[in-house]
Amino acid sequence: MKLLINSEYEIAVCGGGFAGISVALAAARCGKKVILFEKQYILGGLGTSGLITIYLPLCDGYGHQVSFGIAEELLKLSITYGAEALYPDNWLDNKGPRTENDNRYMVEYNAQLFAILVEKLLIDNGVDILYGSYVVDAKTEDKKITSLYVENKSGRTEYRINAVVDATGDCDIAEFAGAPTETFKQGNVLAAWYFYTDENGYKMRQLGASDIPEEERKGNERKPLIPRRFTGLDGKEISEMVYLSHQTTLQDWLKRRAQNENTVISTLATIPQIRMTRKLVGEYELSHTEVHTFFEDSIGMVANWRKRGPVYEVPFRTLYCRDIKNLIVAGRSTSVNETLWDVMRVIPCCAVTGEAAGTAAAMTDDFSSLNVKELQEVLQKNGVVLHEKDLQTSLCQD
Ligand SMILES: Cc1cc2nc3c(=O)[nH]c(=O)nc-3n(C[C@H](O)[C@H](O)[C@H](O)COP(=O)(O)OP(=O)(O)OC[C@H]3O[C@@H](n4cnc5c(N)ncnc54)[C@H](O)[C@@H]3O)c2cc1C
Repeated sequence: MKLLINSEYEIAVCGGGFAGISVALAAARCGKKVILFEKQYILGGLGTSGLITIYLPLCDGYGHQVSFGIAEELLKLSITYGAEALYPDNWLDNKGPRTENDNRYMVEYNAQLFAILVEKLLIDNGVDILYGSYVVDAKTEDKKITSLYVENKSGRTEYRINAVVDATGDCDIAEFAGAPTETFKQGNVLAAWYFYTDENGYKMRQLGASDIPEEERKGNERKPLIPRRFTGLDGKEISEMVYLSHQTTLQDWLKRRAQNENTVISTLATIPQIRMTRKLVGEYELSHTEVHTFFEDSIGMVANWRKRGPVYEVPFRTLYCRDIKNLIVAGRSTSVNETLWDVMRVIPCCAVTGEAAGTAAAMTDDFSSLNVKELQEVLQKNGVVLHEKDLQTSLCQD
């Protein structure tokens, strides 16, 4: 096979889920020449192709918004033409109180509309999107990735680039480049989220809830759909998981159809619904115990979707390692401990790390020597609040 060569781009974003979208947008807005490789033919990753359309909270559950910038911009974009459910009018229209008893700042959105709108947003901002393009390998020299190998309808192309963002969700690029990574020890439960229609319209069916982290269980075990667990890192295993997910969907629908003959399966996920696979072993590993902790190098904050209260500042050091200097990771595979992983993997957190990674990639090709203060200044200029001490303390109670 002839190898094509491309040297047009400064920044390569691998993966076009919520993390990759945020990366590409942030980097392009800094004036860089950005290419985004996505193996599907739609942006959004698990948040569209995976049918996971619940944008979890940007707030702490006690009336304080903690995630801002692109995380908020994408939430608003996702409901440009209305929300599917959970419209947070107390936040967006300032119509009600924001206490621990009120709706958190979250929405359920339409996957297809979001994908169409965000694709235009990226293109309008100058990002080149390459669909159907699988990043299959990386070449490294002197602790830097010098080229990515990408396969698509054109064949195989070597992209020579300065900075690489791994937003594959699985740390694929980190693994290709030989950066240190860790896999999810517990393994993923089977999930089968699908959409069906009946005379009342279409609805999401969520089969296979996430595990409850060990220290929160207290006898509150959730029974998985099946006992088997999945790593999400083995081609054969993923295919078996997808098959089991389809069979679970079929059995569930047959039960529903027995009660209502108008029930029809309308949409299946087109990427595997796997939560946690592989993560970076970064310069710093953020722990679930570091709640309300000040970090000098914070790039933004995230809330805990599982419960109201906890807020985490996210250290820049959780996004890179020294072993591969021009590689940065965003999304559901940043450097956090096993328990916090379930908090950090969700959509708003992917947007927070994505915006920081994209902004950083526009500033350097050696992340460990980046002047973090300069990165923070750009993030703040773009609306990100870095530290909990900088949050406005007044609650909206009207
Ligand atoms: C069953 C389930 C329920 C969930 N529920 C919620 C929820 O209610 N709310 C919430 O906020 N989050 C939820 N999540 C988590 C959330 O959906 C994801 O963690 C988040 O969307 C991940 O975003 P990401 O961009 O990091 O990764 P992904 O969405 O996985 O995006 C990665 C993208 O990279 C592409 N890609 C991967 N490898 C390559 C490669 N080598 N070359 C090119 N492209 C590549 C993929 O096609 C994909 O588009 C759930 C997840 C699951 C599985």
